[in-house]
Amino acid sequence: MDSRTGLPVVGMVGGGQLARMTHQAAIALGQSLRVLASSPDDGAALVAADVQYGDHTDLAALRTFAKGCDVVTFDHEHVPNEHIRTLAAEGVTLYPPADALLHAQDKQVMRERLTELGAPNPVWRPVGDTAELVEFGEQVGWPVVLKAAKGGYDGRGVWMVDDATQAAELAATLLAGGTRLIVEERVPLRRELAVQVARSPFGQVAAYPVVETVQRDGINVEVLAPAPGLDEELAVSAQQLAIDLATALGVVGLLAVELFEVRDDAGRPAIVVNELAMRPHNSGHWTIEGVRTSQFEQHVRAVLDYPMGDTALTAPVVVSANVLGGEPDGMSIDERLHHLFAAEPGAKVHLYGKQVRPGRKIGHVTVLGDDLEDVRARAARAVRWLQVGHE
Ligand code: ADP
Repeated sequence: MDSRTGLPVVGMVGGGQLARMTHQAAIALGQSLRVLASSPDDGAALVAADVQYGDHTDLAALRTFAKGCDVVTFDHEHVPNEHIRTLAAEGVTLYPPADALLHAQDKQVMRERLTELGAPNPVWRPVGDTAELVEFGEQVGWPVVLKAAKGGYDGRGVWMVDDATQAAELAATLLAGGTRLIVEERVPLRRELAVQVARSPFGQVAAYPVVETVQRDGINVEVLAPAPGLDEELAVSAQQLAIDLATALGVVGLLAVELFEVRDDAGRPAIVVNELAMRPHNSGHWTIEGVRTSQFEQHVRAVLDYPMGDTALTAPVVVSANVLGGEPDGMSIDERLHHLFAAEPGAKVHLYGKQVRPGRKIGHVTVLGDDLEDVRARAARAVRWLQVGHE
């Protein structure tokens, strides 16, 4: 507890934009997030008062950080699972717990568990040698999707494999390098969706509306909320699936379930689970303005076992779009912001305090309204101002 405020101390491992925005939400709850950052340039280290520096894979650094925290949570999945287990055994409260988080850290563990639970998976299998990969491709049909079980993000650690020759080469190299692999059928997806739920230790759950996530080059660039034209029954079943998974896996905090929308054998819309994240997620940034209780506030509430907040929409249509660093062309980000504010006074801008580098995710914008095409166009216009410096 912080003796100055009488309120609990939440520590977040990782100082990126998720910690930065969680800190913003924590402030409204009377707190100040304690952050374990790796550098003073980290987005959250630039704004939080209580920052420690250390490596998130270093048990000693984690142990020092956890002292005085009522609860420790994470802004990414890269803290070694065994460290979380060790700290929990030493009496530290960490959410999500190691047993739950493992399903967001290891795609093989996730697929095995989803299979056990009867959740909709693509056809998949673990790959122990090249022959198994080739056999799988011959069975389900090329191309297939090869994935590193651990350590991938933003499309790194995911390879589309077109044929047996490519499969043999790639698998041999990766397996020789010690990468554990799984392979999945290439799902004939119509679009990608995501659904978030929060769960508290008490077991209360709160689900957010299902959204469409638009990807470019393996990176999510736009989120449309609620997912336009999504079958009502399918939306409810996606929310129920996320609630069931959060409960079955013992998640505490936010769970994002990334989904593919497909057609079943009868041609009806259906969903398949792509992967899980157990933290605030890029697909939920729109909730800051678009939902009564943002994902960041909900995550803080959940890890403190407070009752969950209302997840009602604040507008019929909400679009958030990521801002990637543009090519340097002489116009500063400050100047670009100036133009954007003049052009789109309704756009809400979130910059992460990062140095601009081409292609780097430096922020997002959110626009609310009634008409999808209009809201989307306004969000895109706002992004163009920041990214390319003109309309
Ligand atoms: P990461 O962990 O890097 O986010 P994902 O597993 O989400 O990787 O895969 C990245 C992207 O690759 C997905 O957003 C999707 O577009 C595509 N993808 C992944 N798995 C499949 C699959 N089985 N079938 C079709 N596309 C896939």
